[in-house]
Amino acid sequence: MAKAYGLDGKAIADEVIARVSADAAALRGRGVTPGLATVLVGADPASQSYVASKGKAAKACGFHSEQHTLAETTSEAELLALVEKLNRDPAIHGILVQLPLPKGIDSARVLEAIDPRKDVDGFHPINVGLLSIGEMDRALVPCTPAGSMIMLDKACAALGTTLAGKEAVVIGRSNIVGKPMAQLLLQRHCTVTLAHSRTHDLPAVARRADILVAAVGQPEMVRGDWVKPGAIVIDVGINRVAGQGVDAAGKPKTRLVGDVAYAEAAEVAGAITPVPGGVGRMTVAMLMANTLEAAKRSA
Ligand code: NDP
Repeated sequence: MAKAYGLDGKAIADEVIARVSADAAALRGRGVTPGLATVLVGADPASQSYVASKGKAAKACGFHSEQHTLAETTSEAELLALVEKLNRDPAIHGILVQLPLPKGIDSARVLEAIDPRKDVDGFHPINVGLLSIGEMDRALVPCTPAGSMIMLDKACAALGTTLAGKEAVVIGRSNIVGKPMAQLLLQRHCTVTLAHSRTHDLPAVARRADILVAAVGQPEMVRGDWVKPGAIVIDVGINRVAGQGVDAAGKPKTRLVGDVAYAEAAEVAGAITPVPGGVGRMTVAMLMANTLEAAKRSA
């Protein structure tokens, strides 16, 4: 029997969606319907499914939602022209260009073309800068770290503790997860270590953490003996690995695991997020929260 408090990503994401829906209804009462435009270039099945789930969530929140699907052969100039059109469209408050983009399109250039006030992914350099200087009233924060912070707050409430003064270790320094996560923890007065593939003796560094965030992309890399007893463990990783047996179509089964060896870590941690059903559920919910926020600010 695991000792850790289990954080339920679906239940927490549902709470966020309920709050966003209620606020969106109030905003509609003032004549503003939050609008989200998603842009998909090409036909990658994973990207198609991510964009579809974002559109579905937007509709569930009572937003205006539109999806722009462009051919794999779309030029950078054509994509930039669409972004420009959406930047000027007053019915659109959030623009999400699904990554990765096809080869030959400069993703950084496209992301920088999005109006920072409509950049609901929070990847524009202006938003990165606003987050790093703590201008939270103007910044739009990347969705996965923002969702992870809500889960951390839930864990603290369940354990009767607070974030201020805690040792936080974030493993992974990507621009979309690790770095913004470290910024958010710093703003909440944690003492933050940002670890990565060159970090010496990573297990010892991890064992210092009261708050341990794994955003690595390595299946079950963080073992139970890397976890300080009572720590809060946030597992951002989503890794598809071989499962057991074959499916109905005769294909080998696969399953999703995180960057943390859940069963081992749950024996030691104070609270832990599962995979699936953890942080992944929060990402789409926070995209809705960002779109609502962008719409409120425009009003
Ligand atoms: P990246 O590949 O961009 O970054 C991975 C980071 O992990 C890098 O900083 C890398 O270090 C570090 N790393 C890799 N291997 C090791 C190692 N052996 N030891 C220590 N550090 C290591 O990944 P992302 O940040 O985009 O994603 C991380 C994980 O989170 C993935 O599993 C991804 O699928 C998942 N994810 C989940 C989301 C969700 O909604 N839940 C959203 C986004 C991502 P270095 O910089 O030195 O190379």
